[in-house]
Amino acid sequence: RSGFAALIGRPNVGKSTLLNALTGEKIAIVSPKPQTTRNRILGVVTRPEGQVAFIDTPGIHQAKGELNRYMVEVALHAAEEVDLVLFLIEPPSGEKLEVSPGNRTILERLQRIGKPTFLVINKIDTLPKAALLPLIDLYRKEFPFAEVVPISAREKDGVERLFHAVLGHM
Ligand code: GDP
Ligand code: MG
Repeated sequence: RSGFAALIGRPNVGKSTLLNALTGEKIAIVSPKPQTTRNRILGVVTRPEGQVAFIDTPGIHQAKGELNRYMVEVALHAAEEVDLVLFLIEPPSGEKLEVSPGNRTILERLQRIGKPTFLVINKIDTLPKAALLPLIDLYRKEFPFAEVVPISAREKDGVERLFHAVLGHM
């Protein structure tokens, strides 16, 4: 099995951290500063079971200015070219449980592109256990995901499971 998967999501949700965790290398720059990844970065993971090329992309946000608009297009183009989209979110910071407007915009554009999409909930190390299921239900109710995979890219929790789920869809 082999194929391509794109890491797509808002700035700072942990896309670059996940790429590094998957490859075991520091390929992508991780930064608390949004928009550090300006172009696509490719990380290839090779295992006896198969090979996946992961594409890290710039965060998708309300684009102001030409460079920002360019970066959003870079990310969405990546989605068009891959076998599978990994859409990353982080737990909502406030009390309110909702699909944030920023995430909704991206998901609607992804739906138009029509690639199989995983919902990857990152930073579960910051999420109270009881909050996970309601969050999953919320997103699943509104958007069709091939799979939902909770992870902590920083703690490397769930990253192996994610890799195998990705391979399963190749
Ligand atoms: P990107 O903009 O989506 O590529 O996000 P980065 O990978 O650059 O990460 C943004 C920030 O979130 C950095 O400060 C990371 O250390 C942090 N971060 C990434 N993954 C996790 C995680 O699983 N848990 C926690 N607590 N922080 C994380
Ligand atoms: Mg990044």
